Formats: sequence, structure tokens, C-alpha cells
Amino acid sequence: MQAPDTPILRDIVLVGGGHSHVGVLKSFGMSPIPGIRLTLICTDMHTPYSGMLPGYVAGHYDYDEVHIDLSRLAVFAGARLYRDEVIGIDRVNRKVLCRSRPAVPYDVLSINIGATPQLANVLGAQENAVAVKPITRFNDRWLALLERVKNNPGTTTVAVVGAGAGGVELLLAMQFRLCNVLRGLGRDPAELVFHLFSSSADVLPTHNARVREHFTKVLADRAVQVHRNAEVMQVMPGQLKTASGEMLDADEIIWVTRAGGAAWLKETGLALDTDGFIRVSDTLQSLSDPLIFAAGDVASMVNFPLEKAGVFAVRQGPPLTRNLRCSVLGEALRPYRPQRKWLALISTGDKYAVASRDWVGFEGAWVWRWKNWIDQRFMRRFSDLQMIDASVAQSSKLQSIVQLTPQESLQAISAIAMRCGGCGAKVGTTVLSSALSQLHPINREEVLVGLKDPDDAAVVRIPSGKAMVHSVDFFRSFIDDPYIFGKIAANHALGDIWAMGAQAQTATAIATVPSGLDAKVEDVLFQMMTGAVEVLNEAECALVGGHTGEGKELALGFAINGLIDDDPAKVMRKNGMQPGDVLILTKPIGTGTLFVAHARLAAKGRWIDAALQSMVMSNRQGAQCLAAWGATACTDITGFGLLGHLLEMTRPSGVDAELLMSALPLLDGAQECVSAGMLSSLQSANVRLRRALSNQEAMINHPRYPLLFDPQTAGGLLASLPADKAQACINELQALGYTQTAVIGRVLAQGDSLAPITLRE
Ligand SMILES: Cc1cc2nc3c(=O)[nH]c(=O)nc-3n(C[C@H](O)[C@H](O)[C@H](O)COP(=O)(O)OP(=O)(O)OC[C@H]3O[C@@H](n4cnc5c(N)ncnc54)[C@H](O)[C@@H]3O)c2cc1C
Repeated sequence: MQAPDTPILRDIVLVGGGHSHVGVLKSFGMSPIPGIRLTLICTDMHTPYSGMLPGYVAGHYDYDEVHIDLSRLAVFAGARLYRDEVIGIDRVNRKVLCRSRPAVPYDVLSINIGATPQLANVLGAQENAVAVKPITRFNDRWLALLERVKNNPGTTTVAVVGAGAGGVELLLAMQFRLCNVLRGLGRDPAELVFHLFSSSADVLPTHNARVREHFTKVLADRAVQVHRNAEVMQVMPGQLKTASGEMLDADEIIWVTRAGGAAWLKETGLALDTDGFIRVSDTLQSLSDPLIFAAGDVASMVNFPLEKAGVFAVRQGPPLTRNLRCSVLGEALRPYRPQRKWLALISTGDKYAVASRDWVGFEGAWVWRWKNWIDQRFMRRFSDLQMIDASVAQSSKLQSIVQLTPQESLQAISAIAMRCGGCGAKVGTTVLSSALSQLHPINREEVLVGLKDPDDAAVVRIPSGKAMVHSVDFFRSFIDDPYIFGKIAANHALGDIWAMGAQAQTATAIATVPSGLDAKVEDVLFQMMTGAVEVLNEAECALVGGHTGEGKELALGFAINGLIDDDPAKVMRKNGMQPGDVLILTKPIGTGTLFVAHARLAAKGRWIDAALQSMVMSNRQGAQCLAAWGATACTDITGFGLLGHLLEMTRPSGVDAELLMSALPLLDGAQECVSAGMLSSLQSANVRLRRALSNQEAMINHPRYPLLFDPQTAGGLLASLPADKAQACINELQALGYTQTAVIGRVLAQGDSLAPITLRE
């Protein structure tokens, strides 16, 4: 990713991709502040819009229509997206603690993580009920429930616990959808029996009498059995019990009540209300820490008690954005006064809705259409994203807008002035040693002089009977997450070593980091090298040295040394292919096109997420497995694309090959992206290899054709294997986690043609 033209001076970290933060991201995307960096940490790549969730359940919308793609939004906003779960805050050192990555420093922090079901207080609810909150997890549970009902012949009893607007709306939407599903299967919708449990005497107790009456009638018309003053106290497998001792057998128990703040908030020392939500002032700042903001369900405005509803979270987006901006610019914050009355549009499942505001209530199919129009318009704000050429303010203006300490000013001036380079453009020693001192690379006994020593170079012993394998790789970051980038860069570099059938021994790193305030440079370096060292350590590869310089872009590479038995027969080379072998590919292809699309806001977040997971998966076990099953040749697929690397194998082997287009494993979204013309800049160089195709004219319009040339980062292994071993080898590779491993073709005896590769459908 291209570094901004201005150094990073302040970090705003957003925890959770809730309804308020999507507004913050959109606003910063439209109008960025030079020198201010946003980082979103979120457990999910797609966040649901609560207003349309019941419509999704009812079957009126598909998944993408009701989910905001945080990955695209983050690219639009120029924000970093770290996919992780936040588990705490170190307020002393101003760091956000994450489940599976290094802590993330902040200057200003904002929390919008919604509510968490409080099932622990109700005996058995945790194990035996399906919680609707957090709503981001609800989709998986809903799809599972849908399958269970489909596969469960006979009566299915569904109990919904919680008769607020969310519970009633959800029940009616589920009933509508499930009845339609049963009808579609030729079954009787009367097989479904619904119960609704309300702890109070009414349904929708916070709404006016007219609205309550209407829903009471709808529920009665739809044969929903409403249990009033019936607080559920215990949930057993397939059964629940109320405070009055009433028991009900139910196949599905859906929990839409009793949500509270996430448990980890208690450890932060922030002031919380009795339900564990963060107490905030009118400026949306925590009462205990002015650097921490909160909005949406997780916030409890002390002067304005609000219902937990997405509408408030959405409305808090603009004042939160304004105050986050003011906070980093050192300007006075402005109080926010939420509306006392608000309009709720509650649907009845069947494209009919009821409007409720204060004492007013009206209804109709037109109300649903109106709601649909409002909701679609809201979602378009986050789906119709165009890249904005944000011409950032001149760097010299920075100090006047962001209040810097004198020391920070000097660092900023130095970063802006583009250092002379006479120093070799090295990163300062303090920054470097501070970042490196926090890393814990493994040690190997062969390393005589290594990273911790002050010497000019590493000294490593070669064990007797071993030969050395050398390889080097280096590339710039294509994602805004230095930790994951560090993992991918190390994994990519190790790929060559594994492909040769060798064991990694030592690595030296070369990195460039964009200049900026020392603390920011140090953190980027630390995050990136932590990711890399985790991968190197797992590979039993000792990091023994390196060089870090300042550069326009974040980039990382490794020279890796490996060890192999001093016996040429044990080396997996490219030249051993035999006619009759089959071709095996261990990972799906498509990373090049996907990340071009990502940069152009044309890829879905879940495609990018899956591609990243594939890129961080090591080829180590794959290579060992292929070697054990007698692979005759092997390589890892990287920049030259599948065809380029295959040619590197067929030529020295003196063979031809046939590729089965339909058998190629593809990453999710790769076909869509390549068909939309999203091609990597390396693609054109790779396409020159088309001369090697015997029938390219016939296949040039095949939708998968461009993917043959798509450059890969940390791609899978391509190997040839005797045909009789292939199935057993594939079974083992799939069991090892290379789930998309496939036979993608076969090796042929060399023919007369100068074009050695033939494509087949
Ligand atoms: C069935 C149902 C229907 C509803 N319908 C409506 C409606 O029509 N209108 C309405 O106004 N309200 C409705 N609500 C209420 C609404 O869902 C919530 O009030 C709303 O989602 C709260 O929004 P939020 O922004 O606070 O958090 P959320 O929308 O819950 O978003 C929280 C975000 O934080 C992330 N996150 C959570 N924990 C962590 C963590 N530890 N680390 C990192 N990320 C984290 C999540 O992945 C998610 O992206 C409904 C609720 C239900 C259950």
C-alpha cells in the first residue's frame, strides 16, 4: 500500500465496526485529516445493519444487501483494518489488547462493539439457547436453524425469549420465512409452533398502546402463543422454565433479551453502568478517561438514558466523528443531545410495517416500502463507494492543526524534509533497537554470532553432511496491516526453501518503513517483524540479522538459508517431471487479481479475508507430504503465475503438460475479479508466456484463462507425482489443511510442438 504523503502524527483506533464507526469511517474517507491515521479493529469483515436484519431473515434481502463490507469501507477511508477480537485496554500505555496479535497503540480510542448476551445469569441458557446478540454472529446461527427446521420432519416448536421490538420483529420474520420454506418443500406450515416469552405484562412494553395492540393482534392472528409476566429462569436441552414454574418443550430457543457490556470492559477500570456498559458524557467520552470514546449499544449516556437500538448508534456517528476530530486536533469538544422522541419502523415479516413514535402509531404495506427506501438509502452510503483522490494538505501545515510536543515537532519536520539519505536512509538506532528488543526470535545451536551480538554479520555453522539452500524474496506491502504483511512476507520467502525439500535454518531481513514520528515508525516495524518472527519461529528458522531503511512504502523481504541432505537425489527440483505423472496444486490461485480489486474497492471483504488466510498458510507440511509420496518435481507458485512456474518445470524436465481448466482451485472471488478486468501490473509480463500454449487461440475466451497468468503471493506448491500415488497424497494434503488441493493436469511425453502446454476444459 502506498504510504501517505504526510507522516503519521496521531492514531485514532476504532474498536468494533458497529453502526457509529461505519459513519466515522465514511466521514474520514470523504474528508481525511493529514497526519491522522485510523485503525479499525474488528472481529468481522462484514457488519450487519440491524434495521434490515429482520428483512434478511424473512428472505426479502440477501446477505450483501444487509451487511456493510468493512474491508471496502476501510480502504475507502484510508484506514487500517485489523481483523481481531479486542480483549482489553492497557490504559497506562495507551494500547488496545487483541486476542491474536500484538497490542495496538492509540492516541484516541473509540469503542462501538454493541452488546453481548448476558446468558450466564440464566441457568443453562449459555449452552441451550441460541443468542441473537452479538448480531454479527447471528447469521451463522440463523442459517443453522434454517437447516435444522428443514431437516426436522414433523412439528418444530420455536420459543423466542424477549418481547421487545427486536424479539417480536425477529419472531415474525422467522415465522414468515420458515413457513415459506416448508411450503416450498411441500410441507404444512402448521408444523411450526411459535411461543413468545415476555417478562412484563405486555409485548413491546416501551412502545405506545396503539402499537402494542397492533402487534398483539398480529401475533394472535399468526397463532403465536404469547406468555406474559413469564421471565425465563432456566433453560435445559429442549426445554425452558419460567419464574412461575411453567415449563415448555421447545426444539429451538432463541434469546433476544438481557444484553450487557462485554466482560473484558470490567478489567479496563472504565466507569460502567449496572449492565456493564461504558458510562459516557454528552461528548461521548468515558467518564473516567477523556481519551476513550464509546457509542452505540456499548455506551450508556449518563444524561440521556437511551434504548439499545441501532438507530441511536447510527445517530451517534456524526457527533462521534466530530469529537474524534476535535480531540486529535486539540479543539473543544461539542456535546451531543439525542432526540427525545424517535421513529421506530417495525416490520411484521410480510412486507408490512408499523410506525411508532411517542404516542403515534400507523401502519401499512406502504410503511414497509418507506422503511425499505430509508434502509436502502442508508446502505448505499456504504456500498456506493468511489475512490476519492484526497489531495492532502501540505505537510508544513501539519503542526498548526495537530498539537505536537516540541520533540514530536522536530521528528515531524525531519520526516517531512525527506532525509538526505547519506545515512543510507537507515531507521534511527533508538527506534530500531527498541522495536527489535521486543522480538523473540528462536535460537539455533548452529548460530555462532547472531542478532543479539554487536558484530557486522551473522556466523552460522553448517552441520556435517548437509548442503546449504539459499533464497531471497522482497516485496512491498499490498495490505494496510503490518502484522499480517510480516507473516505473509516471511511465509512467501520460506516457500522456496520448502519447495526444494529443505529445512529452513536462518534468515536475514531487509525492510523499508515510511518515515514519521519515532513512536509510529517503531510500532509499524514492531508489528511487521512480530508477524514475521512468529512465522520464522514456527519454521524453526532463526532470524540472525537484517537491515531497515526508510522508504516511501512499507516493504519486507528475507534472505533465507536452508539445509538439505548432501545428496542430490533428496533435492526436489523442477527438472524431474516424468510423462505419466499428474500435476498437483496445493492452494487455490487468484491473489493477484483479488488484491488489485481490493485496492479499487471492487473485492468483497470475505474474499480478501480468505485470501489472506491462504497466504499465511505455510507450505512446509505440504512439501514434506509431497516428498514423502515421491514427488518428482516441485515449485512454489509466486510472481510468474501458474503457467510461468509450470513452464519452469516442463522445460528442464523435457516434457509437455496438459492443464485442466475446470480443475483449477480458485480463491473465492478470483473469477469475478478477473472477469471484471482487475489485472495485476505483473500480468502483462506473464501473458507473454502464452506462446507456450498449444491451443491458446481456442481457449483465450475461457473465463479462467487470465488466471493462468495471475501472479501469486505466498501461493501453493505445484508438484508432479506418479499417478498411482496421487489420490493418497491428496487425501493426506487435505487432512493437513490444504483443503483445496487438486489434480490440475498431467505430464506428457515431449512432442514436436514448440508449445509444450495444452489446455483442456
Ligand atoms: C433481531 C434484532 C433486530 C433488530 N432490529 C433493529 C431495528 O430494526 N432497528 C434498530 O434500531 N435496532 C434494531 N436492533 C437493535 C440493534 O441490533 C442494536 O441496537 C445495534 O446493532 C447496536 O449497534 P452497535 O453499533 O452498538 O453495535 P453492533 O451493530 O452490534 O456492532 C458491533 C461491532 O463490533 C464488533 N465487535 C464486537 N465485539 C468486538 C471485540 N471484542 N473486538 C472487536 N470487534 C468487536 C462486531 O463484530 C461488530 O462489527 C435489533 C436487534 C435485534 C437482535
